[in-house]
Amino acid sequence: MASNGYRNGNKGAIKPLSASSNVRSSSFKSRLPPSSNHSSGSALRRTSSTGAGGDAVPGRVRVAVRLRPRNAEESIADADFADCVELQPELKRLKLRKNNWESETYEFDEVLTEFASQKRVYEVVAKPVVESVLDGYNGTVMAYGQTGTGKTFTLGKLGEEDTSARGIMVRSMEEILANVSPEIDSVSVSYLQLYMETIQDLLDPANDNISIVEDPRTGDVSLPGATHVEIRDEQSFLEILKLGEAHRIAANTKLNTESSRSHAILMVHIKRSVLGEKVSIPIETDKSSHFVKPPKPLVRKSKLVLVDLAGSERVQKSGSEGHMLEEAKSINLSLSALGKCINALAENSAHVPIRDSKLTRLLRDSFGGTARTSLIVTIGPSPRHRGETASTILFGQRAMKVENMLKIKEEFDYKSLSRRLEIQLDKLIAENERQQKAFDDEVERINLEAQNRVSEAERNFTDALEKERLKCQMEYMESVKMLEEKMIENQRKHGWDGFRKDKCNGEGPGSSNAEDIAEVKKLLEKETHMRKEAEKEVIKLKSQLGQGTEAGAGVDAEILKLQIALEDEVLQKRKLEEEIVILRSQMLQLTFEADQMRRCLSRGGPGNAYTGLDSPMSQVSDNGHKTPVSSLFDQVGVQKVLELLESEDANVRIHAVKVVANLAAEEANQERIVEAGGLTSLLMLLRSYEDEVVRRVAAGAIANLAMNEANQELIMLQGGISLLSITASDAEDPQTLRMVAGAIANLCGNDKLQATLRSEGGIKALLGMVRCGHPDVLSQVARGIANFAKCESRASTNGIRSGRSLLIDEGALPWIVQNANNDAAPIRRHIELALCHLAQHEVNAKDMINGGALWELVRITRDCSREDIRSLSRQTLNSSLVFRAEMRRLRIEL
Ligand code: ADP
Ligand code: MG
Repeated sequence: MASNGYRNGNKGAIKPLSASSNVRSSSFKSRLPPSSNHSSGSALRRTSSTGAGGDAVPGRVRVAVRLRPRNAEESIADADFADCVELQPELKRLKLRKNNWESETYEFDEVLTEFASQKRVYEVVAKPVVESVLDGYNGTVMAYGQTGTGKTFTLGKLGEEDTSARGIMVRSMEEILANVSPEIDSVSVSYLQLYMETIQDLLDPANDNISIVEDPRTGDVSLPGATHVEIRDEQSFLEILKLGEAHRIAANTKLNTESSRSHAILMVHIKRSVLGEKVSIPIETDKSSHFVKPPKPLVRKSKLVLVDLAGSERVQKSGSEGHMLEEAKSINLSLSALGKCINALAENSAHVPIRDSKLTRLLRDSFGGTARTSLIVTIGPSPRHRGETASTILFGQRAMKVENMLKIKEEFDYKSLSRRLEIQLDKLIAENERQQKAFDDEVERINLEAQNRVSEAERNFTDALEKERLKCQMEYMESVKMLEEKMIENQRKHGWDGFRKDKCNGEGPGSSNAEDIAEVKKLLEKETHMRKEAEKEVIKLKSQLGQGTEAGAGVDAEILKLQIALEDEVLQKRKLEEEIVILRSQMLQLTFEADQMRRCLSRGGPGNAYTGLDSPMSQVSDNGHKTPVSSLFDQVGVQKVLELLESEDANVRIHAVKVVANLAAEEANQERIVEAGGLTSLLMLLRSYEDEVVRRVAAGAIANLAMNEANQELIMLQGGISLLSITASDAEDPQTLRMVAGAIANLCGNDKLQATLRSEGGIKALLGMVRCGHPDVLSQVARGIANFAKCESRASTNGIRSGRSLLIDEGALPWIVQNANNDAAPIRRHIELALCHLAQHEVNAKDMINGGALWELVRITRDCSREDIRSLSRQTLNSSLVFRAEMRRLRIEL
């Protein structure tokens, strides 16, 4: 392939005027995409190997010719000769003189005379390419020509002293830097030299064998081994160029060559981030609405390649300059390969030998590829180099026929997308933090507000409690004072005993007492009303406090403080309430006693407390209304009264137990007392108090409760029998014994308790109490025995029990016999009944006969004042074989 030298201008016969008319149809300055008329009907269009596709636009390689002014030497040497070329810049034509009379005319895209400024050269040759590169296309500006014709002058002149002399490289960079955004875009350069098919890094000379890498997918060529230097400003670029030039000179000295024999390649890589177009997609369901897809982030990676080629003369003259042919071939391999490729492309040949050299491989995108390419061919004026000039012109003419398919170098910018997403994420995080902070602030504010509200509620509560406390205290004082006054007044009027006596005799002023009670009741009602109000207020305040507490999370300490204060207040209030209850119980007692008096007056009987022993005693008044005591009890509350049973104050205890005992006498109250634990409290009192009055009254209360069958079992279950038995043996006071005996007597009437009564010493205790001799006690003992005997008899009749009576077992018989004819009617009657019950069973008969009971039974049959008992006794004796036999033996006749 290298052997196929391309046809030179003389032989090539590309006569510009005979060349296709498309050649000068477009301005060199036109921006991309080029108008389609360049390519219409042209056979020059080629599809590049990079596969320029859908959005590719045709763009022919633009070629300008530049004539160097005569240099000093030429001015002298060629002084007598005309230039070998004549330029017609306005017609964009160049005439190459063959001789004095003959010339050939060529047309170029731009014809630049020896007077053309560097600025103009940049604008017509390079600027459109640079602008394309900024738009995302690859671009190439290449200088071709004989050594000394101004390639380096045109491309690489730095123009440091005289800025107007700056060449295309500096001006391009200036334009690029002016158009990119340093924050999001990047501009970097690599500077290379290609000599004898070796690529050397001019920015790092040690790196002298850089390989070309082609992307098989896109066909893009890159030099990953080359140094890339980021360019931020023009000055740094100038430094890079100078550095590269210095290295180039050094390298060439080392290789014993000249710069003109190597190709210098400056690559400018531009990376720009752009947003793609928004895509509007109609929504299926609603044709009038469109969903607008946000623009895709795109990155444009374009490349501007500026090539200062080796002198073109070498192709022809290498041999004459003393180089070995092979070496010369090697030196110029790239240049000749470029010529061949351009020829092939110009002729639309099927095969373009791109791979023949490194230069053609490097420039594959510049010729026949997707880049926008400008070629400037430089020529000298000297007729002595006419051949070289002609060859250069021909090269340019061929290159003009090469058509590229310009394609934007754009790809989806994942990096930028990721960056954008990161920024968005950062924003969202910041926003989230801001919201979190706002939330925290809000919580703090609410907390503060709640704290304030709690403090306020606490203040209000404390104030209200204090007021309430003072009010209660004052009321209490007033009540006490009033009661004291009342008592003093009463005592002054009658004296307490006198009062009682008077009442019993019916001589006292009954109406005045009733008035007192009415007043006390009123007082109590007022008191109760006020207490209720106070309780309401406390509940209200508590609920306020509760609300405050709910609102104020995180103010636990405050609430705790408040709770402690509240507890203090509650304690104080309770004390006050206790005092009120005590006061009330005192009033209750007073009322009760007064009530007894009133009853005594109206019935004419004795007023006696705790006397519900013989029969259930009801204090419900005749018309079914509750007694004043019960009403008061309702107001005070059973619990409060029972609490007072445990009061430390002995007086209070006595009052309380009296109240309970009186209440227990009323059947309607019994259940409430037991439910509230009153029975337990009373038994406790029996057990733990040595105070005789307390014990007496407690026993009385228990006796009253023991009238009820359900309570009898409870008393037993709570160890009441033992307690009563102990009390029975301990106590000396006849009234205490009377109450205890009454209680046991009541229990004796319960069928289920027979065995327990015996096993827990109940019968023994009952019999033991006769030691006291008091008729009231004896009467209760007798009642107990009668009850017991009756139950036993019933059980025997029903076949539930057999055997001798437990009473006989316990040794009761002698006392029974002794007292069967007691003077006191209640005792006598109970014992008579007991004897009848015992006699009903044969098993007891023998013991009874031996104990003398038969005589008593006979006496009952004859003398008993009660007809029913007389007949019961007779019937019993008659129905018993043992008794009948004994009576026959003793000749007793009924
Ligand atoms: P090349 O790189 O093609 O071998 P140079 O650019 O080195 O040629 O030019 C050779 C000489 O000619 C240099 O001294 C340069 O300054 C000068 N020269 C080239 N072109 C021009 C021009 N258009 N105007 C003035 N001097 C020029
Ligand atoms: Mg040069």
